[in-house]
Amino acid sequence: MKRTYFCPACRATLNPNVKLILTMARGGRRHLILLSPQPGNYAVIVPADVVLRDGEEVDFFCPACGKNLRSGANARLAEIGFRLEDGTKGRVNFSRRYGEHATYFVTKEWIRSYGENAAIYGDANFFGAGGEAES
Ligand SMILES: [Zn+2]
Repeated sequence: MKRTYFCPACRATLNPNVKLILTMARGGRRHLILLSPQPGNYAVIVPADVVLRDGEEVDFFCPACGKNLRSGANARLAEIGFRLEDGTKGRVNFSRRYGEHATYFVTKEWIRSYGENAAIYGDANFFGAGGEAES
């Protein structure tokens, strides 16, 4: 099923084509990176001069409006919106640490987690974190 990802602040579509594009910040510099839109696929494309080390924490920003995407559920996570073809909407939370594979798709009804490190943030309060009221 096709997933559309969007910025929770400005609603810009973050996967206009086959990849999800985000701004990543580390060490005072910002870079554009490409991620897989498939849950559980942690392949990431970064500029050739950017070398990420396992465990390194980065910040993610919306490439359209510049909003910091840090999650309200847990500051170690980033959060964006998603929408499925059948109308399902929700939020995706994912780890800000490189190499830490933990992703959570959250709707009003369910949470689906992906990645071998998903247990780390399994008790984050995704439902009570404010986030955005999707209706
Ligand atoms: Zn935005």
